[in-house]
Amino acid sequence: MVKGTTSFGKHGRSKTHIVCRRCGRRSFNVAKGYCAACGFGRTRRIRRYSWQRKKVNRVRIW
Ligand SMILES: [Zn+2]
Repeated sequence: MVKGTTSFGKHGRSKTHIVCRRCGRRSFNVAKGYCAACGFGRTRRIRRYSWQRKKVNRVRIW
């Protein structure tokens, strides 16, 4: 097996992220067990940064 390019072609077959229980985005990584968007499962506080300013689910967060 290879690590890069060719094996990433198989990346879309199983789901890596499911809908997060806390932020409602499909960012909860099943394998790692935490949310990439809000940090649920990794940190107690909600993961947010000043440079991130976008609408999530039609609502502006921060
Ligand atoms: Zn989340």
